[in-house]
Amino acid sequence: MFNHRIHNFSAGPAAIPLAVLQKAKDEFLNFQGTGMSIMEMSHRSKEFEAVLARAIDGVKQVLGVPDDYAILFIQGGASMQFTMVPMNLALPGKKIDLIQTGAWTQKAHKEAKRHADVNIVATTESENFMRLPRADELKFTPDAAYVHMCSNNTIFGTEYNALPDTKGVPIVSDMSSNIASREIDVSKHGLIFAGAQKNLGPSGVTLVIVRKDLAERADKNLPSMLQYRTYIAENSMYNTPPTFGIYMLALTMEHIKETGGLKATEARNVAKATALYDAIDGSNGYYRCPVNKADRSRMNVNFRIYKGDEASEALEKQFVSEAEKAGLSGLKGHRSVGGLRASIYNAVEQNSINELIKFMQDFARKNG
Ligand code: PMP
Repeated sequence: MFNHRIHNFSAGPAAIPLAVLQKAKDEFLNFQGTGMSIMEMSHRSKEFEAVLARAIDGVKQVLGVPDDYAILFIQGGASMQFTMVPMNLALPGKKIDLIQTGAWTQKAHKEAKRHADVNIVATTESENFMRLPRADELKFTPDAAYVHMCSNNTIFGTEYNALPDTKGVPIVSDMSSNIASREIDVSKHGLIFAGAQKNLGPSGVTLVIVRKDLAERADKNLPSMLQYRTYIAENSMYNTPPTFGIYMLALTMEHIKETGGLKATEARNVAKATALYDAIDGSNGYYRCPVNKADRSRMNVNFRIYKGDEASEALEKQFVSEAEKAGLSGLKGHRSVGGLRASIYNAVEQNSINELIKFMQDFARKNG
């Protein structure tokens, strides 16, 4: 239908920087003169070993990972981490603390309960997760094994701007949907995990950054493939890793470095999100964002269309279908929330935001 690239607002798998796709295309059939693609060669080849090193170095430099942390590539998606984290980091007789901020922490909760007592530090479920808990609402367990949180709630469109103060208890953060979108202090975390398919590359590889001493908590009798220890000892090469995904992640990290690192990336993301929220807030109530202003995500922008005092599903359906025809794709909200959602990860450029805003203004004029 399109012979050009559309404006891709998909929540994930999501847009990948064009320069990364082009580089992969250029190298696709004959990787560095080997006469084969990266997907066709042994993971033990020196060429792939070099790619793995580029991926690890890239993550280390871009995110500023200190030396006492391991950078791992694991399969099974972010969802596998909902299981691996409590399996490896729970402590006998200690609680796991969890901040309940939406569907992804609920899934993490379900798995964590299998391994320990879980204390819900706070939840905003009664407000449909349209805000994050305030600092004064957080009731931490002083000697918890760790605190689980989700730094950006992909479905509900909330994002932390500062880490909660857990008084020294290690923070485990699910950063699947805002990793590498802003500067972070890795040293304030015990473990970070993120499925690659939003800001890091294609699906199939999950980045885990873990403080090495915490990985030593795990029972040595756990299945080898479910111990962080195994991945640390074997540099993520205990078995065949997802080679293509790791290669794409390496290219993505290099692209971030070439375009100014996380500082510049964050500035672009702030500009994009500000423009879009301003367009919503400035539409005289035609478009409305239900998310508490201070907690609004820079990555996933949720909004609804109003007819008078009520959100109109009919107009939203029309919006999605007309937008699709105009080359603006992936704007339907998550099925559990409804409405509209524009996911504007790193690879979605300001130009796509401008086109979306123009389309929104046009649509409001014609259907107001
Ligand atoms: N956590 C968050 C915040 C997510 O957005 C997602 C996927 N959208 C997941 C976890 C689950 O990721 P996966 O499908 O890779 O298991």
